[in-house]
Amino acid sequence: CGIVAYVGPKDAAPILLEGLQRLEYRGYDSAGVVVSNKGLKVRKVKGRVADLAKVVPVRFKGSLGIGHTRWATHGVPSDVNAHPHLSADERIAVVHNGIIENAAELRAKLEADGVAFASETDTEVLAHLIAAAVDENDSLEEAVRKTLKSIVGTYGIAVIDSERPGEVVVARNGSPIVLGIGEKEMFAASDVAALVRYTRQVVHLEDGELAVLKADGFHTFASDARETAKEPLTVDWDA
Ligand code: GLU
Repeated sequence: CGIVAYVGPKDAAPILLEGLQRLEYRGYDSAGVVVSNKGLKVRKVKGRVADLAKVVPVRFKGSLGIGHTRWATHGVPSDVNAHPHLSADERIAVVHNGIIENAAELRAKLEADGVAFASETDTEVLAHLIAAAVDENDSLEEAVRKTLKSIVGTYGIAVIDSERPGEVVVARNGSPIVLGIGEKEMFAASDVAALVRYTRQVVHLEDGELAVLKADGFHTFASDARETAKEPLTVDWDA
């Protein structure tokens, strides 16, 4: 339902929580965040963003992170089914808006290979598939791109890798993703409402596009991996 991502010099968690609060008007049943700081640290709950904020420690350090508000489509609303979803080795974390139509088939294949699933969601297949692909690819974006080729359905996603603590990869197909450009920091969200407190400079992804965000900027790519040139827009917003 709602996605927020941050990479920059600040602690990510307060920015993610604030952004998720701004997406609450869309409705949701659970919320979660993950930050990267020598490993991934996750908190997720069934309930409100305010309930999530209560279980995020004051010292939840990490200047890279992703957050989500979930509107359940596959699996009941629960703490375990809330996003982010992690790979079994806890290296990869994913948040996802939309529906993966071939999730049951992908899950059956992964389970036959011995992968243990933690949740009932369609989303979790992405975490396991990307984790398998990062070992065979030079970059996180390549691993995400290859994984998305096997997906049928709709998605806006944000992905982080604990072994690449300076970057977030986002992608869209049928579910919006907008990048926010800050001063030595980058944001992404499913809706500009989550970004306007921090920046008015935005870039909308098109279906099939993927972006790599680092503190000092971003790159966008078409599904064939060719880099795309995107002009930032200035959003007009009375916040
Ligand atoms: N299909 C996913 C789930 O049920 C994502 C739902 C959403 O868009 O929030 O967990």
